[in-house]
Amino acid sequence: MTLSKTPPTQNAPIPYVKPSITELEVTYVSDAIRTGWGPRCYDYLNRLEAGFADWLGVKHAIATSSCTGALHMGLHALGVGPGDEVILADTNWIASVAAVVHLGATPVFVDILDDSWCLDPQRVEPAITSRTKAIIAVHLYGNLCEMDALRKIANAHDIALIEDAAEALGSVYKGARAGAMGRFGAFSFHGTKTMTTGEGGMFVTNDTALYEHVRTLSNHGRDRAQSKQFWADKVGFKYRMSNLDAALGCAQLERIADLTARKQAILAGYKSRLADVSQITLNPETEGCVNGAWMPTAVFAPDTGVTREALIAEFKARNIDARVFFYPLSDQPMFEAVPTNTRARDIAARAINLPSFHDMTNDDLDRVVDTLKSFLAP
Ligand SMILES: *Cc1c(COP(=O)(O)O)cnc(C)c1O
Repeated sequence: MTLSKTPPTQNAPIPYVKPSITELEVTYVSDAIRTGWGPRCYDYLNRLEAGFADWLGVKHAIATSSCTGALHMGLHALGVGPGDEVILADTNWIASVAAVVHLGATPVFVDILDDSWCLDPQRVEPAITSRTKAIIAVHLYGNLCEMDALRKIANAHDIALIEDAAEALGSVYKGARAGAMGRFGAFSFHGTKTMTTGEGGMFVTNDTALYEHVRTLSNHGRDRAQSKQFWADKVGFKYRMSNLDAALGCAQLERIADLTARKQAILAGYKSRLADVSQITLNPETEGCVNGAWMPTAVFAPDTGVTREALIAEFKARNIDARVFFYPLSDQPMFEAVPTNTRARDIAARAINLPSFHDMTNDDLDRVVDTLKSFLAP
């Protein structure tokens, strides 16, 4: 065995995100694996759905195997199909647009705002055509979309406003939780998200008819009222969460105040350390809103000349796992380029996602901030 020359604590790896698993999670999952079968095979699922709907402030919730699946079923239930257009921000993870493509509809990528890095309502209006069926408001990195402006546009044109709240657990817009404001909302409980079930998600809505439709779709097209066994009323989807995953979700949901508070404390920790650094902007918190702070992200001012590539290289050299800001979807090979979406391209080229796992220490925060500051002239 050779001894490392550098003291291990100085250069110990800092992960990007990592779930927080306590004895509670272990207890619930152990119970589910022992007892959650036969007549009890939906116990944790029912509990998670009811608990999540209650916490979020919506009437209905359906636990799914992913956020992508929740979006797919919801958009399908709204009748999105070939010939339809769906508007969303160009800055996005591929998952937000995958369902649109699978349903045969056309995504329309709109540029983002400078401060929230979310959909620019002023660019949404001119993007609407007679074929527009929906707007997907994705609350990027915990930052909130301008829901009032988007709702106004959606109502004026009689199109659905949907929320992809996968990154916005704990974010609140003027008193309403992110995900509870759209025709439907979708969440992700992927291992990288604020609350996790390993893989998983949630479909939520206040629209009872839409809920019943998606409930049927989620169960292989079998209507809940259908008494015939092995009888489907339509071809549906298989996007159900397992009861085992739901047990993990129930434990995480009990701890949700702690999980989101910790995310917010980490963002606040970055902000206070960078308070006197005007060249770096972090996730905004606007008046009357709460940022769930899923992903603290640093954007360097254009005149610093700092690039994504240089940031990634330096963080890597310091053994810190930081990630690139989402590339514009319209730059990726399966979509047509949208050269006018300049902000989506420009901001991504000088930004970086910072580590934000639950058990991060102040020393970890210091190391990340030192790395950011190393790019700026003293
Ligand atoms: C993570 C994420 C998804 C995908 O979630 P899955 O559960 O992996 O399908 C969708 N949308 C956004 C905005 C995400 O961040």
